[in-house]
Amino acid sequence: MARIVVLGAGFAGLWAAIGAARKRDEIGASDRDIEIRVIDRNPYHNIRVRNYETDLSEVALPLVQLLDPIGVTHGLGEIESIDPAHRKISLVASGGEETLSYDRLVLALGSEVMRPAIPGLAVHGFDVDTYTAALRLEDHLVALGRSAPSPGRSTVVVVGAGFTGIEVAAEMPDRLARAGITGSRRIILVDPNPTVGATIGAHARPVIESALSSLDVETRLGVRIASVEAAGVHLSSGEFIPTQTVIWCAGMRASRLAENFPGARDRLGRLLVDPFMRVADLPGVFAAGDVASSVVDGLHPTVMSCQFARPMGRFAGHNVVADLAGEPMLPLRIDWYVTVLDLGDWGALYTEGWDREVKTTGQAAKATKQTINRKRIYPPLNGSKDDLFAAAAPTVQAPPPTYGAPRR
Ligand SMILES: Cc1cc2nc3c(=O)[nH]c(=O)nc-3n(C[C@H](O)[C@H](O)[C@H](O)COP(=O)(O)OP(=O)(O)OC[C@H]3O[C@@H](n4cnc5c(N)ncnc54)[C@H](O)[C@@H]3O)c2cc1C
Repeated sequence: MARIVVLGAGFAGLWAAIGAARKRDEIGASDRDIEIRVIDRNPYHNIRVRNYETDLSEVALPLVQLLDPIGVTHGLGEIESIDPAHRKISLVASGGEETLSYDRLVLALGSEVMRPAIPGLAVHGFDVDTYTAALRLEDHLVALGRSAPSPGRSTVVVVGAGFTGIEVAAEMPDRLARAGITGSRRIILVDPNPTVGATIGAHARPVIESALSSLDVETRLGVRIASVEAAGVHLSSGEFIPTQTVIWCAGMRASRLAENFPGARDRLGRLLVDPFMRVADLPGVFAAGDVASSVVDGLHPTVMSCQFARPMGRFAGHNVVADLAGEPMLPLRIDWYVTVLDLGDWGALYTEGWDREVKTTGQAAKATKQTINRKRIYPPLNGSKDDLFAAAAPTVQAPPPTYGAPRR
């Protein structure tokens, strides 16, 4: 029996596993011929893009529900290292240290927010990078709502004015209100760049600025966090902001386990993969999602996003089985790119193209965002093998729907 190991059950790993099971079925093989095994530190698939939202009740989907119906085994474990020369993975599972061998590997360990060694950040900082972290923030806000009023209680500092930081800040008025923190609350977005959304582009920036302003989100631009303490943050400008809530959203980096592989990586630490999701010069190793970078349209490399992680996973899953079976593999090509940024009660921003041209804003764009976050990126949850396999076919979806009148 051959063994395919998929490391990670996020957007890339989940879809790689289902895609591999689909292809295994298609070639008439069974789990007695090809074992597909997923390892993740969590027993759930996190709809990670929703970790900034107020309601977290539907963002952790049990793997049992998704992988058992299609004969994919899955185990809990913390991956410690990978030895591609000997095709061995070292992990820590409930019984202690284990070694797992593979015939084919799909690396899908994603990315993590970078937490620099700023004094006090590790102890006092929050983030929304994982479901666990999002729950911790939620518990903290609920506890604050029950505590005595103070300026620090009703002030939230969000660090990093990129996609995640903007979404977190824009959602915060609603989250504070739901936690019972009303009145003179302050939400402050801090970034070392001179503008918000510095990487998002000139077309989108005025829309973001207008939304943040209408939500009363303050900014501190061109400054860094010097230190964090229980009672507040010190900025590099010398300002001290009293706050009990500092949310770190600055900078993503590919899983450090990508460093276990020889060969080229980009500035985000991502392994360079070909259109078949193969890691160069490493037979039998595929990578997908935030841990990998692939040129999708002959020009642009993938962006760390579920928009790319899901199709990369589907194609990696299909190709890993095709490779094992000696069948032709399928290249991934995607000719469109969109961004949909949630802007809280103000609505959202929907852009198309690599220049991020603004297409819709406000409630029209919010409808697109909600379609994506609540439907489009969800796997079928009915336990139907046919539905799961249909959703994992190695094809590229059409762009998401737009609603309302296009913005002029
Ligand atoms: C708050 C937030 C909002 C976002 N919004 C958007 C958005 O609007 N649109 C968009 O396209 N993208 C968005 N993203 C980015 C998107 O979530 C990622 O690009 C996507 O999750 C990448 O998928 P992945 O499968 O590569 O990684 P992940 O989804 O992170 O999955 C990696 C998996 O590997 C597991 N893992 C990692 N290391 C180990 C280890 N050592 N041992 C065991 N298991 C391990 C993790 O538990 C996880 O299940 C957002 C991200 C965040 C945090």
